[in-house]
Amino acid sequence: MISHEPDPQTIVYFKNRYMPLAGAQVGILTHALNYGTGVFEGIRGYWNAAEDAMMLVRPFEHYERWRSNARILGIDIPALPEALCDITAELCLRNGFTTDIYVRPLAFKAAQRVGVSPDGNDAFAIAAMPFGVYLDSEKGLHAGVSAWRRVEDNAIPGRAKICGAYVNSALATADAKRSGFDEAIFLSENGHVAEGATCNIFLVRGGRLITPGASDNILEGITRASVMTLAHDLGIPVIERSIDRSELYIADEIFFTGTAVEIAPVTKVDHRPVGDASIGPITGTLRQLYHDATRGSLRAYRHWIHPVPVHEPALR
Ligand code: PMP
Repeated sequence: MISHEPDPQTIVYFKNRYMPLAGAQVGILTHALNYGTGVFEGIRGYWNAAEDAMMLVRPFEHYERWRSNARILGIDIPALPEALCDITAELCLRNGFTTDIYVRPLAFKAAQRVGVSPDGNDAFAIAAMPFGVYLDSEKGLHAGVSAWRRVEDNAIPGRAKICGAYVNSALATADAKRSGFDEAIFLSENGHVAEGATCNIFLVRGGRLITPGASDNILEGITRASVMTLAHDLGIPVIERSIDRSELYIADEIFFTGTAVEIAPVTKVDHRPVGDASIGPITGTLRQLYHDATRGSLRAYRHWIHPVPVHEPALR
């Protein structure tokens, strides 16, 4: 998937004010541009026409993760999650979005000089833009184990969405696409399955979900956490443990999770069918539940949703 370049007139938040995307520029010597010293996030908003509102999905959790992961790089994000949610809501209002959107917060080392040693010159921006399907997984995806290994926590911590670490994902994604796969699966240096290039991974074996644990070089996904909650509420056991590569080839079902990919069934791995190569029953059930929950239509999970009534006069 290649998303379209957003309209340059889209209103974004940068340098403590709202401005057109075209005006939100950084210089070529910016520390983060040269050395990868930024931390970003990805949040989805689903347009709910019946409520005339944008359903932001778990923005508090995303902003909490952003702020705590930024600390790994020593980047200070002065605004609290509540204020960041308010900025995001304001972006929805100012842009008048009435389609699904993607929100991209980015915090970074902003000094403009040569030298890798970071200083306290930090900046952040939040952009929001119309966004649709990221990976078309209606018929199931074909995933391939990558020859690139997942970044290790002691090299570049994968648990934070560190800009520079996405070289790892970009290399694996480029090779996967060239080889005809829809998405790459990373192994860690120890040979265990870590995650997809842009998403977490779950296997279904014997009616139970299995997913790599937090110490297997994964990004601790918010969709992953949501799926674990949904599975728990359905009485499906979830086991967090290391996964061998060969387990991919004998799993009953496999799916990816992520803000952009949502819940994406994997029906082939390395040219081998997963189960009978159709979307399995547990994947299908979780996918439907996740879809409904994130559109705000399930009361039990309504607390995940931060609704922004776009045409509400009181908010304008
Ligand atoms: N792993 C990686 C490497 C990712 O880039 C993402 C997308 N943020 C995920 C997992 C899924 O995380 P989340 O569910 O929080 O979007």
